[in-house]
Amino acid sequence: MPEGDVVHRLAATFDQEFAGRPCRVSSPQGRFASSALRIDGRTVSGAHAVGKHLFIGFDADAVWLHVHLGLYGSWRFAGDADFAAPASIGAPRVPVQVVAAADGSWQAPEPVGQVRVRLATEHGVADLSGPTRCEVLSDPERRGVEAALGPDPLAPGARDDAEALERFVRGVRGHRRVIGELVMDQTVVAGVGNIYRAEALFLAGISPLRRGDRVSASRLSALWVVICRAMDHGLLVGRIETVSAGDAPAPPLEGDPEASRWYVYHRTGRPCLRCGTPVHERRLQGRRLFWCPTCQR
Ligand SMILES: [Zn+2]
Repeated sequence: MPEGDVVHRLAATFDQEFAGRPCRVSSPQGRFASSALRIDGRTVSGAHAVGKHLFIGFDADAVWLHVHLGLYGSWRFAGDADFAAPASIGAPRVPVQVVAAADGSWQAPEPVGQVRVRLATEHGVADLSGPTRCEVLSDPERRGVEAALGPDPLAPGARDDAEALERFVRGVRGHRRVIGELVMDQTVVAGVGNIYRAEALFLAGISPLRRGDRVSASRLSALWVVICRAMDHGLLVGRIETVSAGDAPAPPLEGDPEASRWYVYHRTGRPCLRCGTPVHERRLQGRRLFWCPTCQR
């Protein structure tokens, strides 16, 4: 599932390539046809992300398209020569189909597969397939969805935002559930998925099995900074990599390519990069959880 950094990159793409342009909105698959009519032909005002939720505004933000990709959703883009969107984001990754004429003009490709929504301007198209959530919201409805989400580590200034930090600390310490569950709870912190969970808890030295109400506020402050830094880096470089240059094995370990990117994620049974203890794995709420039992307490 895409984590918050991917969704923030998507929002930036829509903001750059669609904002200010009238947009045809359709549902090639048909399932979204009546909702599409509510925004068809309106001008895109901008886009932003909160955690894993994408919001695309229309008509000066009077009405919004709200999308959550979930496990199987994906966006596919195509456009003219100036269109700077990535070929596709989400799963599965399918090559983009661009039809360009010799004179530089372009033609939108036919939708491929079950396309729930197509957004089309004279500059480019975006096709959405397989989302968990896809709906048209009024502005008050949009604010309600955002208010139910925890603080977003990728929001501007989040690392030094005392109010966001306080909400995060309160969200964790108010629960007896283990912190490995809580950092994946989108009402506690928005945008953290399975990879950032494993890596941030490792970097903060916190056992994922420690109860939320048993983690001190100062350790949670440190964890918040770790999450913000790791996700900022992912957003910047376009992939999740958390291992510092000093900890990265050189040369890369044979049979352990993950060690060049991640400390514990997908490294079950292999030696911790810091202490050599074999990395542990277990299931937590149906998802794989990885940690070092020595470095994380
Ligand atoms: Zn260790």
